Amino acid sequence: METILKQIAACAGCEACLKSCPTYSITGERLFTPKQRLQTVEQILEGQSVSDPMIESLYNCTKCMACESVCPAEIKVSSVVNMGRQKLVERGLAPLPRGKQIIEGLLKTGNAVGGRPEKRLSWLPEPFAPSTSETLLFLGCLPSYLVKDAASASYLLLKRMGIDFMILEEEGCCGTYIYEAGQVDLAREYFKKNVERFKSLGIQNMIVPCNGCLKCFKYFYPEVLGDFPIKVSHLLEVVYTALKENPSLLNQEDRPLVYQDACRLARVEGLTEEPRELLSWCATEVKDMQQNREQTPCCGAGGGVRSLYGDLSGEMSARLLDAAPGQTLVSPCPFCTFQLRRTAIDKKIDKEIKYISSIVLDALNGNRK
Ligand code: SF4
Ligand code: SF4
Repeated sequence: METILKQIAACAGCEACLKSCPTYSITGERLFTPKQRLQTVEQILEGQSVSDPMIESLYNCTKCMACESVCPAEIKVSSVVNMGRQKLVERGLAPLPRGKQIIEGLLKTGNAVGGRPEKRLSWLPEPFAPSTSETLLFLGCLPSYLVKDAASASYLLLKRMGIDFMILEEEGCCGTYIYEAGQVDLAREYFKKNVERFKSLGIQNMIVPCNGCLKCFKYFYPEVLGDFPIKVSHLLEVVYTALKENPSLLNQEDRPLVYQDACRLARVEGLTEEPRELLSWCATEVKDMQQNREQTPCCGAGGGVRSLYGDLSGEMSARLLDAAPGQTLVSPCPFCTFQLRRTAIDKKIDKEIKYISSIVLDALNGNRK
């Protein structure tokens, strides 16, 4: 808490972050600026009362970290927001009703997206065969239930590249939604059970196609448990490393693609050039969004915002789609893929959104469409 208070105190009030914040630029609401969110959390930490719009301001932050990439004081606004949410839970003011519902569903079914557990492996292109490996491909809820092409392409791609890995018949959830909602004690219990299970299976490495799982395993688990004894890699890193010595394995298709940087990969992991290079081996033209790399716009889905504030979330993704300089967008995030696809349908925007492993798999198979 001391660190968080220091972060808040470091704010110089320069307002450099305002323009970068999608919730402010869409709503024009001062409460929804990074700077004001810091002040709101300070008030909460001081035990002052909070209004409903103040609570909303902490739950409609997508944790996109666009503000952090421009803040001269290097304030970790998303961590401050996390603390604010946790304190609201302690006061009994959160999670919000929809968030509670999702967490209850997650604890009951092992997924955060309302999927039927008996259908989880419906994406698997072959019968499930139990196997052992030190490396687990942890698909995550979104690919397993809602972006199944991302799950099957990721699985097939790793197989085609001869990478040794296993999958789980009953995978469960990484638990990110519980943490994001501010329920840290519950998240700790959930995380512990996952770690015990992974340890009992001898897992040393984890490959994740989902940026939410990456964030959760790589950052939330060590933060909450003090340690996470498994190396976590995004699928993109694994695929790029495996193919960079021999890109001629890929058939370069004659078509233009637009690469969409996802917030976390670009702003935290620094994975900006690898996906571009990878895609350049798969297609003759790879375009950038006007705002790209660390300045990439948020799709609006993260931080639990899609489930709690659907309209605001949809506005963010519609802006992103409207700004895309081409028909086919390639995303390295299944949540962005899902969100952008849904918005394209809802708002009748004529764009196709592909998860990156599908493009690489097509190129590896020499498929031409
Ligand atoms: S993390 Fe994103 S949504 Fe949240 S305050 Fe910063 S810029 Fe705004
Ligand atoms: S950019 Fe950083 S220092 Fe400036 S107002 Fe925003 S949070 Fe405060």
